[in-house]
Amino acid sequence: MAQTSESRAGAQPSGAEIDVVVVGAGFSGLYLLHRLRGLGVTAKAFEAGSGVGGTWYWNRYPGARCDVESMQYSYSFSDELQQEWSWSERFSAQPEILRYANHVADRFDLRRFIQFDTRVMSAHFDEHDRRWTVKTDRGDVVRARFCIMATGCLSTARLPDFKGRDTFRGNVYHTGEWPHEEVDFTGQRVAVIGTGSSGIQAIPVIAEQAAHLTVFQRTPNYSIPSRNGPMPPEYERWWKENYAEHRAKARMSPNGNFHARNEARALEVDEAERHRVYEERWQAGGSTFVGAFRDLFTSREANDTAAEFVREKIRQIVKDPEVAELLAPKDYPIGTKRICVDSHYFETFNRENVTLVDAKRNPIEEITPTGLIAGGRAYEFDSIVFATGFDAMTGTLLKIDIRGRNGATLREKWAAGPRTYLGLMVAGFPNMFTITGPGSPSVLSNMMVSIEQHVDWISDCLAHMRSSGFEVMEATLEAEDAWVDHVNQVAHKTLYPSAASWYMGANIPGKPRIFMPYIGGVGAYRKKCDTVAANGYEGFEMTPDRAREVAAAE
Ligand code: FAD
Ligand code: NAP
Repeated sequence: MAQTSESRAGAQPSGAEIDVVVVGAGFSGLYLLHRLRGLGVTAKAFEAGSGVGGTWYWNRYPGARCDVESMQYSYSFSDELQQEWSWSERFSAQPEILRYANHVADRFDLRRFIQFDTRVMSAHFDEHDRRWTVKTDRGDVVRARFCIMATGCLSTARLPDFKGRDTFRGNVYHTGEWPHEEVDFTGQRVAVIGTGSSGIQAIPVIAEQAAHLTVFQRTPNYSIPSRNGPMPPEYERWWKENYAEHRAKARMSPNGNFHARNEARALEVDEAERHRVYEERWQAGGSTFVGAFRDLFTSREANDTAAEFVREKIRQIVKDPEVAELLAPKDYPIGTKRICVDSHYFETFNRENVTLVDAKRNPIEEITPTGLIAGGRAYEFDSIVFATGFDAMTGTLLKIDIRGRNGATLREKWAAGPRTYLGLMVAGFPNMFTITGPGSPSVLSNMMVSIEQHVDWISDCLAHMRSSGFEVMEATLEAEDAWVDHVNQVAHKTLYPSAASWYMGANIPGKPRIFMPYIGGVGAYRKKCDTVAANGYEGFEMTPDRAREVAAAE
């Protein structure tokens, strides 16, 4: 890697050889560019969108907001940044999070490293010259020593392959690819298909506009009220005064959140105490509900107590008992699909202009020019909103033609499910890193904590390689195999694999059913990564820099 001064780091012309190609300019790509710049290496990012922000650039649907509190779902790497930025709400909405991403790009002068509106189509490793060749849909060809995939875990929207899908003559939307122009549903008959986090956020807002909203629900979801509201000034002050301490606590926690998990077990306390704890967390709002007791993810009996509490809440909120029963999840443990956090979701089903259709008993059979047919009945709509999720964790990476040693493709390597060492590297694919890849805590955490940890680890690793004269780094097959086993073993000690979730690849027909993220905990994972680095990057093979060796011999 070139020993360059910071002034050398900058936008690179196409065709140039550079140190690092970054794919993606969401929160991962942005922070990575900042760190790379600090290392003084030459870097260039390609971003398919026209702007920064990733998730928050694409998911502009009504009601989109974070489900981790904004004081925590934000960067910690710059104290100036975290002190100067003010969030207007406890859980900020998409436009504000996108403004924040843009502010970060400008404040740290990162745009000049990014080529927008450009999709990376292929990345091939050439063993002879130890370089990656990256090609884009705009004809760019860039050679780089390192290729870092900051491509996101939820960045490939999934539209189910319904019969007649393209025949509908009205407006069609996917929450994950929402138009930039304002969408006004006023006076319309609208369908929302899907009741995951995206649907649950969009439904209450669309219901306020639409003449009539029909929600097609295949599987009900557990959802906790966010209790969102304007950011209380004293709460913001408390965070800002204690940021260092709070962030440090979050980094070593099970899921990257500051708010503590209760270390008591649900089955060790009596029913009254259990109820008190659940009620307290329900009133506090947000996903910390599932931290009510430590055994909720390991004991089905314990989990049932929390699940039943939420079902009871749904029955209390929703006036029509049949609708309430339909909305109450029963056939998988609470929390084993990502818990949803809502603003008046269940209340929305008390509105006159909202109908819930059980799409499990009445599956959607066909999209028609005027609407759709479900359970043999024809429905007519002006707009259909697909809130049908993503090809998560692997989908975006596998869309790129990635080839490592001997021309082997990542698609072949991952045919039976993703295999990584620490979610950071793949054996056979030297000098390619993934940020929050499968095998890391990734989507099981406050992603900002995981993103910063991965970017820091990778950046420190690049600095180490440079100072120690290494040119190539690669995960060994043994280390990868052992890590994949460990990830599996830990997952199967919990209830997580019992749900047909996107964590398991279960939302995509034909996708291997493997629990993809690492459930061992953000803190434990960080310790493991730090230990690996401290022990000379154990599990990785480092190859000395040829040019340096030649120079030394002369
Ligand atoms: P992304 O933000 O997905 O960015 C990846 C970027 O890479 C995208 O802009 C994409 O266009 C680009 N890209 C991909 N492939 C290519 C290619 N081949 N060529 C060029 N560019 C490419 N996590 C939380 O912790 N808390 C939350 O509250 C939360 N809310 C979420 C809400 C929604 C609606 C969704 C979908 C996800 C949410 N997440 C949340 C997860 C969220 O994805 C992460 O928190 C975080 O934003 C991911 O950042 P990233 O940069 O890693 O990936
Ligand atoms: P999702 O959780 O995968 O939900 C997709 C929904 O579409 C499910 O209800 C699914 O039903 C339904 N669906 C899919 N195919 C269908 C079909 N053929 N017929 C009927 N219904 C169908 O996707 P998502 O809601 O976009 O959320 C994905 C993840 O993004 C979340 O888990 C979360 O991590 C993140 N996210 C976070 C927030 C936030 O609160 N900050 C908001 C949005 C997204 P089945 O369950 O039956 O398959």
